[in-house]
Amino acid sequence: MATSEDGQADVVVVGAGVIGLAVGWRLQGAGLSTVVVDPDPGGGASHVAAGMLAPVGELAYGEEELLALGIDSARRWPAFAEEVAAASDLPVGYVAAGTLHVAADAGDYAYLEDLWRFHGSLGLDSTLLSTRECREREPLLAPGVRGGFFAAGDHQVDNRLLLAALAEAVRRSGAALVRHSVAGIDVAGDRATGVTLDDGRTITAGHVVLAAGWRSGTLAGLPPGAVPPVRPVKGQLLRLESAASGLALRQTLRGLVNGRPVYLVPRASGELLLGATSEEMPATDASRSGAVRILLDDALRVFPAVDETSFVASEAAMRPGSPDNRPLIGPAGLDGLVLATGHYRGGILLAPMTADLVAGCLVSGATAVPSIPASCSPGRFAERPFSKDEATSRRRPPVTERS
Ligand SMILES: Cc1cc2nc3c(=O)[nH]c(=O)nc-3n(C[C@H](O)[C@H](O)[C@H](O)COP(=O)(O)OP(=O)(O)OC[C@H]3O[C@@H](n4cnc5c(N)ncnc54)[C@H](O)[C@@H]3O)c2cc1C
Repeated sequence: MATSEDGQADVVVVGAGVIGLAVGWRLQGAGLSTVVVDPDPGGGASHVAAGMLAPVGELAYGEEELLALGIDSARRWPAFAEEVAAASDLPVGYVAAGTLHVAADAGDYAYLEDLWRFHGSLGLDSTLLSTRECREREPLLAPGVRGGFFAAGDHQVDNRLLLAALAEAVRRSGAALVRHSVAGIDVAGDRATGVTLDDGRTITAGHVVLAAGWRSGTLAGLPPGAVPPVRPVKGQLLRLESAASGLALRQTLRGLVNGRPVYLVPRASGELLLGATSEEMPATDASRSGAVRILLDDALRVFPAVDETSFVASEAAMRPGSPDNRPLIGPAGLDGLVLATGHYRGGILLAPMTADLVAGCLVSGATAVPSIPASCSPGRFAERPFSKDEATSRRRPPVTERS
């Protein structure tokens, strides 16, 4: 089928954050003519994120299924990074340096030690470290730091470089990137048939992939049973500059401070990311002053050199949260509709796996797709469909700072 400007394609992807771009690139590469629509490609949560690829560091009790998805995607990352860089001739900033977790005091250490035992029970690559061993890895740690663990397989990518490279790879692949907002999903009978843009034009397509981040549950046109249960969860992060101070971190550092997680992600450029809040609230990209104070206070408790960095910016975006924190990937509630959303705090990590799963399911053309793990299949919510209002207002208890 012809692409783009004539308003027809095999697939139209709504949203060009990390998920929509990765999916669009894979689909076009698999031979399906693809249009990706977004008024601000490479924006959204993907632009604000820290880029940690950290299935072990993100593990919470009861989230073993999410862990399995994260480990699967982390394994795909080295090849994915190489492929995107080769397809775009642009760097993606993938760094395989592991992540050091440290405790600010004895209480925090007790929690980390417990978590490390949990890692052991699941066979994860995680090494308990004494205070001295932590300091050998990161000499400028605060004097009060009380040991921690090292997650050797938790890496990072520069998400802004990645987004630019993915957008270029999409363009070079022959897929179309249309800078418009989707006003609604077009449905005829029991089938999604394309989208209507904000200027009234339509794009008809055999399949619609919904990858609009937290807004995925707000698009007009979908019958209630097909609306994904995705809600906005605010994340605020500080951008610091450490190059002038000469006080660089050697690897990503995650601290636990009075039970609150905080992280510092060093970039090769000297940029240092300090994050992040996790706040259940209506969507806004405004930075909150109190969050800046808490993030700085907590970071100083584990890495005092933060005091010497330059403050560049405080930024916020809404993560696409789902009721069980796992993404929704695959066919959902309406023929022709495929979801790629709800990646919450792990969309950068989960992008390679998501793109492969969506491509696998559309290329095979199957409706019940065995390759989509049940743990991320939208079908797990099918017994109790969500209405659009519920999808955007449903709240979970607040979690403090995560990625
Ligand atoms: C502070 C912070 C730190 C984070 N750190 C990490 C991390 O270290 N590692 C990690 O893996 N994840 C991290 N995350 C989570 C990660 O950013 C998200 O899971 C991921 O970005 C989701 O990608 P997405 O493409 O689904 O959504 P988004 O990046 O939000 O993209 C959605 C896109 O859809 C577009 N869109 C919306 N509505 C429409 C419409 N009607 N028509 C067309 N386009 C539309 C938007 O313009 C946007 O570009 C972090 C998030 C935050 C906020």
